[in-house]
Amino acid sequence: MSNPDVVVVGGGIGGLGAAFSLTRQGLSVRLLERAPAFGEVGAGIQLAPNCTRILDDYGLLQEAKSLGVVPDAMVMRDAVDGDELTRIDLRDLENRYGYPYMVIHRSDLHGLLLRACERAGVELITDAQVTSYENTDDGARVTLASGETHEAGVVIAGDGLHSVARKLLVDDEPVSSAYVAYRGTVPAELPRVRSTDLSEVVVYIGPACHFVHYGLRGGELLNQVAVFESPKALAGREDWGTPDELDAAFAGTCDFVRDGLPYMWRDKWWRMFDRDPVMNWVHGRIALLGDSAHPPLQYIAQGAIMAIEDGWVLGEHVARNRAEDGTVDWGAALAAYEAVRPEHCRRVLTTSRKWGELWHLDGVAREQRNVLLRARDTYDYSFTDWLYGPTALTPDEEPPMFTPIPLSSAAVEDSKGEPLA
Ligand code: FAD
Repeated sequence: MSNPDVVVVGGGIGGLGAAFSLTRQGLSVRLLERAPAFGEVGAGIQLAPNCTRILDDYGLLQEAKSLGVVPDAMVMRDAVDGDELTRIDLRDLENRYGYPYMVIHRSDLHGLLLRACERAGVELITDAQVTSYENTDDGARVTLASGETHEAGVVIAGDGLHSVARKLLVDDEPVSSAYVAYRGTVPAELPRVRSTDLSEVVVYIGPACHFVHYGLRGGELLNQVAVFESPKALAGREDWGTPDELDAAFAGTCDFVRDGLPYMWRDKWWRMFDRDPVMNWVHGRIALLGDSAHPPLQYIAQGAIMAIEDGWVLGEHVARNRAEDGTVDWGAALAAYEAVRPEHCRRVLTTSRKWGELWHLDGVAREQRNVLLRARDTYDYSFTDWLYGPTALTPDEEPPMFTPIPLSSAAVEDSKGEPLA
């Protein structure tokens, strides 16, 4: 087997996206996945315009739209009383950014990228667990658990939250948020789906919990995600996030949210970890990509999107640093990648943490937040422009970040005009 130009480790959404992007630039790519078969666990995923813009560039947007749902609105409600707090008109948002906001089943997105890689000629290898990475004189090498080695001009590590490659760059561990996510889908024939507006992506935010729902597969399924803070995790117990905690966490929420809980999958849950941002992603000819570089808390739904953006940016910098004979100046391409992506992803990671704090407020702070959210103009895009616009290729192109008004400095009154302390 001759050496490819690039080895990509990990066949998740990030690894597949990168493999496709680099193959599109004329490079030969070998992708190594540890699992015996390619696949994605979970249900829905939200794709904002900064991702659908890239899918369109890849020629994959129409297929994605045919598999997913393009909703009309994103609505935020209070989980306790069910009242609407604010909304985004997704048709107007599409006009503003030029590309749609859509939702899709994770396995459909993964399958779409997998098929694109197959068509493009990516060499896809399963049962290939990478145990170590090293730089060589003219590239990099990975070693598998079987002892087999693979070499290439560059190795892209898309090996997820527990990345082996990340250890080359930073000595850190995943950070537990003490929050846990339950997922589940409800088939269209059940009354709950018939009584739900599938043209909306809805998030109910509440004290130490939130609940998300949206339609999938052209309205065949209602996707639900229930997220809460685990008291057992806070108490330092190992067995945290169990279904008894799910029911207790949502006991004080409105009927619609509580009625959705029996449909959650109760045999599987996702403890939510992120990592502190790191600004150094490249070690010689080995580069991190996706969750290996920047696993977020998912509150602004950008984890998979950042991974797809990483692959696209890398592909663009390969194109800019390619000689006429086809050789890539990998030093320059990786430096350009590392100059722009870590700062953007740092912003997403820190914003996601802050967003989670805002969603999960209780007491007076919850009421203050609700007053501010109700006052928001539906057509105010100041908090999405930095995120949903075109993906930056250089630091100069990165838009300024939206800084929310700290709640403590806002003069907030309740519905009777009384100041909220
Ligand atoms: P992964 O999906 O973790 O893929 C890593 C791959 O590498 C896997 O296939 C794994 O088997 C393989 N691998 C690992 N180690 C090795 C090894 N040593 N050798 C070989 N292969 C290896 N993001 C969004 O953009 N929008 C959303 O709406 C959204 N919602 C979310 C909801 C929840 C509840 C959660 C938990 C996350 C959500 N995310 C969302 C985040 C998103 O799912 C992740 O950020 C994204 O899937 C990361 O993709 P990845 O390919 O980088 O990593």
